Amino acid sequence: MPERLLVVGQPTARMLDRLSGAFELVRLDDLNGSGAGIRHACMLGHTRIDASLFDRLPDLRVFANYGVGYDTIDAAEAARRGVIVTHTPDVLNAEVATTALMLMMACYRELLRDEAYVRSGRWEHEGGAPLTRSVDGQTVGILGMGRIGQEIARKLSVFDAEIVYHTRSEKDVPFRYFADLVDMAREVDCLMVITPGGAATRHLVNRAVLEALGPGGTLINVARGTVVDEAALIDCLETGKLGWAGLDVFEAEPHVPERLRALGNVVLLPHVGSATVQTRQAMGDLVVDNLLDHLAHGTVRTPVPECRDIA
Ligand code: NDP
Repeated sequence: MPERLLVVGQPTARMLDRLSGAFELVRLDDLNGSGAGIRHACMLGHTRIDASLFDRLPDLRVFANYGVGYDTIDAAEAARRGVIVTHTPDVLNAEVATTALMLMMACYRELLRDEAYVRSGRWEHEGGAPLTRSVDGQTVGILGMGRIGQEIARKLSVFDAEIVYHTRSEKDVPFRYFADLVDMAREVDCLMVITPGGAATRHLVNRAVLEALGPGGTLINVARGTVVDEAALIDCLETGKLGWAGLDVFEAEPHVPERLRALGNVVLLPHVGSATVQTRQAMGDLVVDNLLDHLAHGTVRTPVPECRDIA
């Protein structure tokens, strides 16, 4: 009899193929009381995972997350109970960085406005579109200089960007460090947000940061919606206190406030930072590798920092 694997969300066909050879899959909705004996679980999506689920799974050892961010999982509580949470770092760095640059370019070059202009037929009767802003030679502030932040910086070098950054502790990178986020926002043309989500970063980008970025400034958020004070962001965009915003994530996604959707100075994406066939395949492979390695040898490849001591 294969061991049971608890599945939260919908695995890809490729994941199902590999997993069903080794486990009997049990959906969270079908877990009727008897979670005892289940040692492995995986999640796709952003369901809140905390003590209430761990209570139902007394033998759980590995909780494998499809994604690098795990702000909806109480990893400290998992570690306390001997549950190793794993995630999918690095394999998505390039994709998320590309998404950040795509949003920046779409904002600067008014991609959506100009595309709509052609489709509307107005070009033929009204002449050329208004000029836009060059992406080249900008000062870009990166909030979060980790795996993805560094990849964003690398990709921006093609555009001759001057990179500066803010994190809690200074990193060994060849960019100017700002200990204060408002000070950094005042000096940059574009602010890229790529920190983890969760309580520690909630509303880090507040009204003061947005106003320091200013009417000529652009905010790009590919981190988590909670990092930005969305009400303040909408106010600033409506009143011209902030110029533009490119957003992949939202505070209460998939709900996106009507006022935000009505604005012309935003580019909005449905949380697709890593969502290409190639990158999602690599993420799925790493989730399955973590589970199969643990099943076969009791080891995992990519535990989250909170669980490294017990992995
Ligand atoms: P890393 O852990 O490698 O980097 C995180 C960076 O954020 C570090 O430089 C860290 O530095 C900084 N940071 C953490 N907390 C704070 C804080 N309170 N204030 C300032 N800086 C902070 O993570 P990754 O680069 O791999 O991923 C970052 C995040 O990107 C993920 O957690 C996820 O939320 C998001 N993401 C979004 C995706 C999307 O689809 N839009 C896809 C993939 C990831 P320090 O600790 O010194 O502060």
